[in-house]
Amino acid sequence: MKALRLSARWVLPGEGEPIADGAVLVLPEGRIAAVGADAAVPRPAGCDAVALGDAALMPALVNAHSHLELTGLRGLVRDLPFLDWLRTIRAIKDALDAEAFRASARWGVLEGFAAGIATHGDSGTSGQGAAALAALGARGVAYQEVIGPDPSRAGAVLAAVERALDALGACRSERVSVGISPHAPYTVSDRLLEGAAALAAARGLKVAMHVAESPEERALVTGARGPFADYLRSRGIPVEPRGASTVAWLERAGLLDLRPVLVHCVTADQGDFERARRHGAAVAHCPSSNAALGHGRADLAAMRRAGVTVGLGTDSVAAGGRLDLFAEARLAALGLAGTGSAAEGGGRLSPREMLRLASAGGAAALGLAGVGALAPGAWGDLAAVGLDSPALSAAADVETAVAWGATASDVVLTAVAGRVVYRRGAWPGVDLAAERTALERAAGVAAAARARYLRPEDMARQA
Ligand SMILES: [Zn+2]
Repeated sequence: MKALRLSARWVLPGEGEPIADGAVLVLPEGRIAAVGADAAVPRPAGCDAVALGDAALMPALVNAHSHLELTGLRGLVRDLPFLDWLRTIRAIKDALDAEAFRASARWGVLEGFAAGIATHGDSGTSGQGAAALAALGARGVAYQEVIGPDPSRAGAVLAAVERALDALGACRSERVSVGISPHAPYTVSDRLLEGAAALAAARGLKVAMHVAESPEERALVTGARGPFADYLRSRGIPVEPRGASTVAWLERAGLLDLRPVLVHCVTADQGDFERARRHGAAVAHCPSSNAALGHGRADLAAMRRAGVTVGLGTDSVAAGGRLDLFAEARLAALGLAGTGSAAEGGGRLSPREMLRLASAGGAAALGLAGVGALAPGAWGDLAAVGLDSPALSAAADVETAVAWGATASDVVLTAVAGRVVYRRGAWPGVDLAAERTALERAAGVAAAARARYLRPEDMARQA
């Protein structure tokens, strides 16, 4: 591979002030050699030099929580109570074949590239998220989901997870690591959580979990009440209160010591965030998913007061609709309205803080070094935002223009470790027509399953 030299009207390094007429040089091995004024950045003979013109070059975005294998389910299941939404998604997943998961996951990675996203913290059951990240040259942590609310089946579930993790070994590289994700309090028994934690510790795996996402989950965890409790009991699964909150339960179970990414945290409070921070756990804040599923708003001000690490996640497009971390950053900033002064963790996010949440914040949450800021020695993961759209014109400054005006569609180039993976509507080396055909087939399989599952008798039959 050749060195890559990108220049643009603005470079936003992530740390420090914007650089006018700046450039970034990435060495062939994928790491940044220089960041600065165009005139000061070397131009090695034979490098790939791309002059981006009226654009802002910045660290590529980091999606702290995705389900790439569900890309074919965009907008397919809407306006259902949470338990019914989950059961419908699960029924559709049961109908998808490996090719459908594969096409969905690959399209998710490609959609991410076009949105400036180089890295995903991706949870899934099929293994196709890891395969897509690896094959298409993205960066990420692929978390194998662990699902099994019936404690009597914990051993069998763990054995299957071990086999899945072994299979994912082939996807591991400098860019892609493998993790484990006990899915959520309502899909994981205490025994299974214990086993998953032991497995993570033994194998040195990163951990993520859906945590404190909904009032229904809170009722289950704190009082063994509500729709999740009723549903589990209807399946003959015993349910007991687990503690004062999901985060408190995870602390007692030792899971927080594995420094997990706690996804959602809508019903978590200041004490929960302080617990998380003390153990080095982080939060994946997913404002559009939380709103779309009707859960409410996670308390970013309390996260900031507690000093816990926060990244932004899109969640699956089945919930959130689109992989757009600019939109998530704006929702995060808007969610702070009326939450008190900056000293109290509220007030406002500066445009730089918004962009950092969407890049360095996610990298820190996922425990990735050398990602999220442009500096010598860091990975050459870059995104360029075109500044010529009407919404980005005449802004107070370039960071305001990008943070408040940009959408995923304004991204003109994305690179991962110095390799250009997207440039102005093209994905080098990718047969997009074939990928689209495969995605549309997957979406068709999903839609047919959705139509079948609408029948109440099917819903009643589900185990
Ligand atoms: Zn999720």
